[in-house]
Order: sequence, then C-alpha cells, then structure tokens
Amino acid sequence: MTASQPAAATDTAKPKLAFRPLPVPQVDVRGFWGDRVDAVAAKTAGILYDRCVEARMLEQIDPDRPSPGVVIPFHSPSPDEADAQGAEFTGSTVTTQMFWDSDWGKTIETAAYSLYRRRNPELEKKIDAVIDMYGKLQQPDGYLSSWYQRIQPGLRWTNLRDCHELYCAGHLIEGAVAYYQATGKRKLLDIMCRYADHIASMFGPEPGKRKGYCGHEEIELALVKLARATGEKKYMELAKYFIDQRGQQPHYFDEEARARGADPKAYHFKTYEYNQSHKPVREQDKVVGHAVRAMYLFSGMADIATEYGDDSLRAALDRLWDDLTTKSLYVTGGIGPSAHNEGFTSDYDLPNETAYAETCASVGLVFWASRMLGMGPNARYADMMERSLYNGSISGLSLDGSLFFYENPLESRGGHHRWKWHRCPCCPPNIGRMVASIGSYFYGLADDALAVHLYGDSTARFEIAGRPVSLVQTSSYPWDGAVAIEIEAATPTAFTLHLRVPAWCRNAALKVNGKMVDLDTATSDGYAAIRREWQKGDRVELDLEMSMSRFFANPEVRQDIGRVALARGPLIYCVEETDNGGGLHRIALPREARLEAHAEPNLLGGIVTLSAVGSRAGTENWGRDLYRAEPPATQETKLKAVPYFAWDNRDPGEMLVWLREG
Ligand SMILES: [Zn+2]
Repeated sequence: MTASQPAAATDTAKPKLAFRPLPVPQVDVRGFWGDRVDAVAAKTAGILYDRCVEARMLEQIDPDRPSPGVVIPFHSPSPDEADAQGAEFTGSTVTTQMFWDSDWGKTIETAAYSLYRRRNPELEKKIDAVIDMYGKLQQPDGYLSSWYQRIQPGLRWTNLRDCHELYCAGHLIEGAVAYYQATGKRKLLDIMCRYADHIASMFGPEPGKRKGYCGHEEIELALVKLARATGEKKYMELAKYFIDQRGQQPHYFDEEARARGADPKAYHFKTYEYNQSHKPVREQDKVVGHAVRAMYLFSGMADIATEYGDDSLRAALDRLWDDLTTKSLYVTGGIGPSAHNEGFTSDYDLPNETAYAETCASVGLVFWASRMLGMGPNARYADMMERSLYNGSISGLSLDGSLFFYENPLESRGGHHRWKWHRCPCCPPNIGRMVASIGSYFYGLADDALAVHLYGDSTARFEIAGRPVSLVQTSSYPWDGAVAIEIEAATPTAFTLHLRVPAWCRNAALKVNGKMVDLDTATSDGYAAIRREWQKGDRVELDLEMSMSRFFANPEVRQDIGRVALARGPLIYCVEETDNGGGLHRIALPREARLEAHAEPNLLGGIVTLSAVGSRAGTENWGRDLYRAEPPATQETKLKAVPYFAWDNRDPGEMLVWLREG
C-alpha cells in the first residue's frame, strides 16, 4: 500500500501528543461496520457515479464536449438560486449546479475507499476517466473549476461568498488524497497539488494577494489532509490562513460585493452568521448559521489547533462544542432544525417532525468530533462522535446502500422516505465516503500511543517507533459490549493504549492478559490508559455493559417535555408503524415499565430490538366528538422499538423517537 505517513506541520509549536487518524487502508472493519462498508462498496459507490452521470455532470467537466450551460455576462444568484440548495440555472440544454465539482470529489472519495474494500475494475476505469477529464480541464496556471471554466468563464474569484469555488476545490482535494491512498494513483493528487499551489499564489497574508476565504467552508480541512498526505507545509499554512482570516475587518465579502458592483447588504441570508464569518473564529462562542458549513469550519479549526498546538483555537472550539451539545443537538446526533437556513435557530428549538437534521450535518459533526480527538483522547468528543455516527448519520443511507435521506426527522406521520437522488445531491456521497472510510475513525495514533475511539470487529496495522504493530478487535459491538483486543508486535514495543469507556456504560471491566485493571485509577477524560511493553499475544478484554436507558430532554425543549426516548448502548431507538400499528402518538410508556432487549438475527440485517408494555389511547369508543369531558379509554399494548438508523427499511409508515410518558 502506498498510504503515506502523516507529515508534521511544524517543528516548533506542535503539541506533545497529536493523535492522527490511521489512513483508511490500514484498518479493516468487519461485523456491523463491515456490512455497512460492503453495502457502500457493492452498491452506493456505483450508484453515486451513475446518478452523477444521469444528472449530466460529466458534460460539465468534459472539455471535449460542448459546454452544457449558456454563458452569461454576470451571474449574481437570485434568492431562489442562492437558496439553501445553492445556485443553479438552466442553460441551453441542461440544468447545472455550481457545486458539482464537489459531488464529483465526494463520489471519487467514496469510490476510492470502496475500491480498497472490494476490487471493481469497471468503476475504477470510470473514475480514472473522470480524473482524465479534470486533467484536461485544468488550466496552465493550475486553476480548475468546471463552473467557472465552462459555465461562467472570466469570473473566477469574484464571488467567494456564494459560489462554492474553494469549497469545490476542497472536495476534489479530499477525493484526490483518498484515491491516492487507496489505489496508489497520483494523477488527481498531482492535479490538485497544482491547483492548491495556484490557490496559495492567490490568497494569503502577503501583499498583493487576496484576503478572502470561502463562503462554504471545506477547503481548510481539505488542505490539512493534503499537507498530511504530501508533507508540504505550505498547504497547512494556507489552511491556517483561511481560518485566521475569516470574519476579520474590513469584511472580505463586503469588499468583494462592492468590487463586482453589488450592494453587500443585498445578501440573501442577511447575516454573515450564515457562513460563520460574522466574527473572527477565535471570538465565536455560539454555533450559528448553516449547519454543514459550521461543522466543516470547526473541523478545520480542530485540525489547525492540533497541528499548531493553538490553545486560543481550542478554547473557541470548546465553547462552541459546549453550546452545540447543551442547546442545539437532537438526541440522535442530528443538528440544524431549520430548513430555512439548513441550520441553527434558537436555543432548545428542536422540533421533531419538521427536523431538518441534514445527513451532511451529522456527518459533519462526526468529522468535527473526530478531529477534536486529535488533541488527545477525550470521551466528551468520542461519545458524541459515536452517537452521531450510529444514529443521525447512517440513518441517511438505506441498509442496502441504495437510497438516501436528506432530512432526518425524529417523527414521521408516514410520508418521509429515502429517495433515489436529489437536485442538490450533497448527502449521498457524504454518507458514502464517511461509511467507506469508517476505519479511520476507529483509531488515533500518536508518537507513542494508540487510542481506540470506536469498538467493533476490526484489524488495524500501524507503526510505533518504526516497529510494525497490529491490533485485532473481536466484538459484536454495538449489539454486545464484550470487546477482545489482541496486540501483535513483532518485537516488544512500548506504547500507551487508550481505551474509551463510554459515558452511557454503567458497568465496565478491563483485563490485561487476564488480570483485572482498576478502571477508576486508569481512566481520565473517559479513556483508560494502559502503558506497557506490548508483545505478541498480549490480550486486552473490555466488557462494556450494554445498558438500556431512557433519555429525557431539558424541560426547555418544548417538543419533548413529558416524553421519553429509548437507547441501548450507543443506539437511539424508535417505534415504527410496521411493528406497532398506526397512531404512534397514542402510545404511552410508563416510567416503571421494564425494558427488554431481544436479539433478532433475521430482522433488518440482524439487530437487537427493545420491547416494553405500554398503553394506547383507544379511538373505538370515542365516537364522533372532537372534544369530550372524559379522557379516552386506554388499553395495554406491547411496543417494539428498533434502532433509529434502521427505520424506513421495511413497509412505509409512521415513526416516532420521543414516546409519550404515562
Ligand atoms: Zn447534504
């Protein structure tokens, strides 16, 4: 494998322990995640390519075909165009979108990780052809944007606020790094290095360069990936510049608007909170605006905080984390309740049925949380990464890998279903690439430590102090909490193994080579640390009690008061009509009702369901009255709950996460 080792960004200000994710090809997952990755490799990756082709995206990037759009003198997105879905317009032959390069980038990334999992010469050939088109399209100075070259020529770098130019570059960079790591092919990586070099020549603190940054964050985290893959510090510096510059005065988006003859106040979203440029990032303490933008920005900030040991960035991130997780987070790890701005509204505003909770936003929260772990193992972040991963993220993909949710509500009257494709197809390749690269979220590697953030059947290969080590996890997590870890070091190797003890777990036990470890003394920040000289055959056993639990929301959440959500381990549960009949709002679960867990190997690919005896308000004896002086009669009912991520994979119908208590 050609996966390159991460390169240090700086020799001086680096924190003592920076944990970097293992590159995807160094981790094989089996079990729960193995099934998910197989579905992406077998179906999703090919579907993404086919849907992109059906949407006629090839025509936008192929220089050998006529441009699909009309050339217009200047395109200032109207409110309709610059709405939540981004700008688009219908040209002479086809509707085209300004962010299609990003969809190609994510599709390439998904395909890359999938090819590593499962050989697919046919798909690889198609992706190679896409890469060839980008190679042909690239201008001699390195510039590369299918929108600004093929649809709106002559206008590059005139509207960073609305037009996703650097965002598209970022996704193509991520695709390039992934394709290189998975296949060893450098062509796209070289193309994107040339483009990144061009961007670095245009933007930066030096006199004569533009002082801008993108209206849709993404380039920052992508440049960090590029720096780590190539060892080129200049990409890291550019990522840091974009973060440092954001929200500074005079405001770049004001000046840019005036330069193209537009009134900065005519901005469709009214406030720069929408793209988190309302203040310099180190002064931000409230999570605002478009949820995916916010998550990508915070991900980039966390990477830079890790690489530069920047405590001021870390302090801002901790404030933002605290704000998000105490006021604006769904129990599923979904974020961004509003469709209006695809983002945040006011504190405790968490409607269930109309929850927007875009798949990309939960995926973005996984990105952010995983990067916070770069600064050291801390279950505050890892537990949330797990929550969002197992619930609000993977709900976005059907179990067979073929259908997608854009919104992830916590309640449905039966009308919400996964779709084949979307005119803004951001979510399908985002969930695809996250699932296909799940192995890299499992582990964090530092100079003399390895952190296990996630549990599940898997094998990881890495080097510590130049010595190869492999770590094999055997577990049927998340269905069962028993985790056996075998470490194989060819020669005895000293390092610290950090094991997460999730906050949801009420009873945990840890043994090393059969000997009990006192978890209280070994654990800090939610991770047990074992330092020893590891040798072949060493075995660690971690037993996490898969507790069933009830969640109650802060009473300020008006939609959830008097209601309860069920969980087991990291999984949030829901009830579906297909198991419980219609009228789920009429079901109530008493506080004292006993919860039972049942392994159901033949249901939904093999899951654990929960059941309890509750009551249901009957309509039979109510008659035609709308209102009455007596409450409805209730009868006992047995309710059955399934993991939230698995809903809408059977007969369509109602769904409910927050059950009435009573
Ligand atoms: Zn999306």
